[in-house]
Parts: sequence; C-alpha cells; structure tokens
Amino acid sequence: MKREKSEELFKKAQRYFPGGVNSPVRAFRSVGGTPLFISKGKGSHIWDADGNEFIDYCGSWGPLILGHANVKVLDAIKQTVDSGTSFGAPTALENELADLILSNNKYLEKIRFVSSGTEAVMSAIRLARGVTKRNKILKFEGCYHGHSDALLVKAGSGLVTFGNTSSAGVPEAVVNETIVVSLNNEEAVKQAFNEFKNQIACIIIEPVPANNGLLLQRKEYLQFLRDICTENNTLLIFDEVISGFRIGFTGAAGYYDIQPDIITYGKIIGGGLPVGMYGASAKLMDNISPLGNVYQAGTLSGNPVAMAAGIAQLTECLKPNFYEDLAEKNKFLIAEINKNIDSASIKPKFFTIGGIFWTAFTDKEFIRTAEEINSDSMKYFKILHAELLERGVYLGPSGYEVAFISEAHTKEDLLKTAKAFGEAMKFVK
Ligand SMILES: *Cc1c(COP(=O)(O)O)cnc(C)c1O
Repeated sequence: MKREKSEELFKKAQRYFPGGVNSPVRAFRSVGGTPLFISKGKGSHIWDADGNEFIDYCGSWGPLILGHANVKVLDAIKQTVDSGTSFGAPTALENELADLILSNNKYLEKIRFVSSGTEAVMSAIRLARGVTKRNKILKFEGCYHGHSDALLVKAGSGLVTFGNTSSAGVPEAVVNETIVVSLNNEEAVKQAFNEFKNQIACIIIEPVPANNGLLLQRKEYLQFLRDICTENNTLLIFDEVISGFRIGFTGAAGYYDIQPDIITYGKIIGGGLPVGMYGASAKLMDNISPLGNVYQAGTLSGNPVAMAAGIAQLTECLKPNFYEDLAEKNKFLIAEINKNIDSASIKPKFFTIGGIFWTAFTDKEFIRTAEEINSDSMKYFKILHAELLERGVYLGPSGYEVAFISEAHTKEDLLKTAKAFGEAMKFVK
C-alpha cells in the first residue's frame, strides 16, 4: 500500500500541531505507523491522500450513521449555507431539530444545544451541581465523558477513590470532587454514598460504555444506579454522546427503559457537524440561564448549518426498521467473520450492541469493567489493524475503540470485511 502522500502530510502536520493532529487518537500511536490522511468519503468508503480505498468502520468516531457524504444531509447543508452560516440569534431550524427530537423521545422534555459532547457533559454536571447544591460527582473507571477538568480523572487503588488526574493541568481541588469507582460494582457505589452522605450531586455513566472497549452493563446494574440516586436525591446522568441515536432513536434510556435525570448527546445528532445537546425535565432545565441561575452559553450554539445537517440525519434515523437493519447487518458481519477465522488461531471475540462492535482478544464471556480488559491483547489488535488496512478495511486506530456500522454498509462490504478479517487473523496467529 502506498503511503507517500500521507507520510508527507503527516511530516508537515507535526510542525503545525502537537503530534501532527487535532485530537490525539488520530495520531495512530497505539497501532504505530503513519496516520492516513483522508481526502474523500462516500457511503461506507473512504479514500486516503494516496488514493487507497477503504471500507470505513470508524465513521468519524460514530457520527456518520448514514455513511459519508449522505446526499440528504449534504443537500440540507447546501440549502442552508446559502442563507448564511451563523447569526447569534435564534433560527427556526433550532425549533425544528428540537421538535424532531422531543416528539420522539419520552425521556426528555427540554433541551439545549451546544457544540460538542464535552460541552454537553460539562454543562450537565454544572446543572446537577447547581440544583443539588452539592459538589461531588461520581464516575466510573472505563467511561469517557470528554475532556473537561472534572472528568479527566482515573481510579486510584481502592474500592472508592478520589481519582488521579489523567491529564496534567487538572487542579487537585477539582479531582477531589470526583469519586471514581469500577463499573458493575454495587458495593463500591453504596460505600461512596455512605462515605459522602448528602454530598454527591450526580452519578454520571455511559449507559453503554463504548470508549474503552464495549463494556456492556447489566440492566439491573443501571436500574440499581437509578434507584440509589433517587434514594439519595442525587441526579443520574446518562452520557449518551455515543449511544444516543445509535442503539435506537432514544438511545440507552429507551433500550433499557430507564429514566435518567439528565441526558447528554453529541456525535450523531449533528449529522457530521459539531453539535452537542443536554436535556432533562422542563423543571430541571429551567434552572439554566436565562431562566435560572446555572449559566451556560455558546456563540455558535444551535448553528443553523449544523441544525440542518442534524435534522436531515435524524429524519432518516426515524425511518421504520432503521435500527433493526443496522443491528441485523452487525450480526451478519460478525457471523461471517467467525466463519472466516481459522479455528486454530488466536480468536478474537466480538461484543456488540445495535450497530456497534468491539473486537476483543479474550476468553471471557463478558467484559463489564475496564480492569477485565487484557492490555496484552492490544498487541494482537495492532497486527490485526495493520493487516486489515492492507486489505482495505479501516478500523479506528486503537484496540480500545469500538467500530460502527452505518446504513451505507452493503452486504458486499460486509462479506469483503469478513474475508479480510480471516486473512488478517492468520498474521495475528
Ligand atoms: C465522544 C464522547 C464525548 C466527547 O464528545 P466530543 O464531541 O468529542 O467533545 C463525551 N462522552 C462520550 C460518551 C463520548 O462518546
């Protein structure tokens, strides 16, 4: 595979950007080699600067549920952009996207649009702290919630810990308000509530943790979190930036039928443009400025072009059987891959939900916590990733990342992918 153009671009990019990228995982550090510079996408396929073609399972890390350059999304963008790109004043498009969402999601009454998932989560945490008048928050090891200070915290040792920062530049005072516990552990959560009685503003969880492998939780566990929050007047935040509009139009709240207090969204909601959102009951949301005293604002919030892209994309997601079809494709792909993998080789196991799959090298039947992931298996993933690229299949460049199936993936794509997995696995073996 020719890489000259990507190599040249990467060399230049390293002069401009730290590590040559504008978001770290793009640098291919976990799989090695040069990141591919993408020049074009159409449907399920992308092309790099050297003209290599790939079937794409990264989907811009989730947003592109209809595939690349979907005609309906592009048309909506083109029509809107001719009237101007931003006004800093309300537009009817914001109402339209809000109506589309709220009339199809019984878990939300009022929402606010922001410009990224990070911003949505940061605002949701502020709302939770503002209304409960408590400072502490509880998060789980193995869940990612964007890069705001309060959430860049990883577990220390012990059942219930104030974590350690996972980034320099996060003040200790901030970390000391974030309690970190393992997923799937009821004892740890109970202990945290005992230790910090009436101090915990919210529990935040990815109800479908999909940023550190795919750590599917038991419904009973999510229900336990709902109940213990209710008992303690603590708010439950579902961070659905990845699962929202992905495992169903109503995301994990709908999938498990659990009513969180606040839900955050991003990724799919903007149709490939930068949109985030947080929402809750009208009563809770009315604490946000200008009605309430919890401040939150954004120069480009509710951007008309991004709203138009979101409307076009979510309208497609509401078509009958949209999500069933994605899940069917996923099942088909995994079954075909398993057929293609030589039974004597080191076998990957696939964890799936809706149109998401995660390739794990493990003997375990379930992986529900970050600690259960064998970090050695990342060596296997590195080989698999490189060999798949050689065969025209593009996975996100880390064994901790999940893969996404879009509406645009065809049966032919899936069969080709399964064959490529089979061949690539011979090298892992
Ligand atoms: C991607 C993601 C975020 C961060 O969103 P950005 O748009 O990258 O800021 C937050 N939470 C979850 C669950 C995510 O998947």
